[in-house]
Amino acid sequence: MNNTIIAVDSSGSYRLYLAITTEMVQEAKIIHNATNLATAALGRVLTAAGLMGLMLKDEDCTLTLQVKGDGPAAEILASADGRGRVKGYIADPDVELPLKADGKLDVGGAVGKGTLTVIKDLKLKEPYLGRINLVSGEIAEDLAHYFLLSEQQPSSVALGVRIGPDLNVQAAGGMILQVLPGAEEECLDALEERIAALRSLTEYIPQVNSPAELMDRLLGDMPPAYRPQVLEERSLRWHCGCNTKRMEKALISIGEKDLVHLIEEDGGAEIICHFCLKKYKFGREKLEALLREARNE
Ligand SMILES: [Zn+2]
Repeated sequence: MNNTIIAVDSSGSYRLYLAITTEMVQEAKIIHNATNLATAALGRVLTAAGLMGLMLKDEDCTLTLQVKGDGPAAEILASADGRGRVKGYIADPDVELPLKADGKLDVGGAVGKGTLTVIKDLKLKEPYLGRINLVSGEIAEDLAHYFLLSEQQPSSVALGVRIGPDLNVQAAGGMILQVLPGAEEECLDALEERIAALRSLTEYIPQVNSPAELMDRLLGDMPPAYRPQVLEERSLRWHCGCNTKRMEKALISIGEKDLVHLIEEDGGAEIICHFCLKKYKFGREKLEALLREARNE
């Protein structure tokens, strides 16, 4: 089922990216055995990366969103491609903090002060890199700040993950609304009013069956000329894509000296994929073959 839509209003004042990512975030929670707080933090970053992946021109382009802070979560990273495949990890999936005064999970506290970095591999010579200092560590606000500062793109961003009493992800989703050049003032006023009145996305998500329905709940009462119209339906899903070949390449890239060390000291190597935690084992003979390959380069 498509869980994502891209929409514009008929006056061309704004573009909307909207996703319901409950299943994807639940999968990430299970893979990483993450606490509620870690799931909220990772889920927001995964959803944001997935939505930004939809903006890539080509299916093979990739986007990486990295949030690094001095809080206990330390680092959260997610990567997405133009096909809607998303993966990610959090450095400390065990992170726990007291709830905030409003009863919400303290993602900003888990992240702390630090930076948000966006890397886009657009299949050009050099990847694009944009970095800003975090505003709050709550991710959505930081991302809006990134769009404005690094891409000169005024945007409104909302991201949410809600964990149910059974400790499963009850609702997760995100919205990125971009103001387009030449946007009509009247439209922006109407948007501002609605966005200010919006409750958390995760309050609406359990009540709807599709992102289009969610869009109606959020902006269905805009003046007719400014109501969003669906352009495209897409799908975001968890997909790691790691394999033995890639891990071999990674081993070759560590260089001759370290490979020799692995062979002589350890007699083998075990690599764990950061994203899906799958283990890859390499015996002495395989490492020796990789060493020969490394030497040939
Ligand atoms: Zn993997």
